[in-house]
Amino acid sequence: NLPVVAIIGRPNVGKSTLFNRLVGKKLALVDDRPGVTRDRREGDASLIGLDFRVIDTAGYEDQDAASLPGRMRQQTEAAVAQADVALFLIDARAGIVPLDAEIARWLRGSTTPIVLVANKAEGRAGESGIIEALGLGLGDPVQLSAEHGEGMGELFEALLPHL
Ligand code: GDP
Ligand code: MG
Repeated sequence: NLPVVAIIGRPNVGKSTLFNRLVGKKLALVDDRPGVTRDRREGDASLIGLDFRVIDTAGYEDQDAASLPGRMRQQTEAAVAQADVALFLIDARAGIVPLDAEIARWLRGSTTPIVLVANKAEGRAGESGIIEALGLGLGDPVQLSAEHGEGMGELFEALLPHL
């Protein structure tokens, strides 16, 4: 039985892009438009020889703004509960938005280890977002570019103790 890694975070932070990179196939739909419906997906992933099952949480992007947090909380908590470790993605370029802080609060009581990941951090982009992310109280974020494949070694090192 493979260990399970959940990818969580608000819409448009790059969850499906990371899922696709880890699974190595275009299994998850990536869309440029925020708010486009995407399915929850699972796949077998490999990262520098580390094998695990990965869950891409989604399916709440189609909800209207009022019901979004409730649906997202359900999905997020269910995925985290079944995972050995969760990758909590934020968008380093956008910085911390209120929904990121709300998700961090949901995670506070969780017994599943959480790895904070600042995505879209290619080059020197997103430095201020990375500093803001420290305020979530989840430690130093792993700096990643899911799209360009940067930071995968650091992601490996952050996952290794939990798998
Ligand atoms: P999700 O809603 O969290 O699943 O986000 P998606 O994976 O669908 O990505 C949302 C948008 O962010 C898409 O336009 C992606 O191309 C873009 N994106 C994802 N990862 C990166 C990254 O590392 N750098 C940049 N610049 N854009 C990214
Ligand atoms: Mg997605």
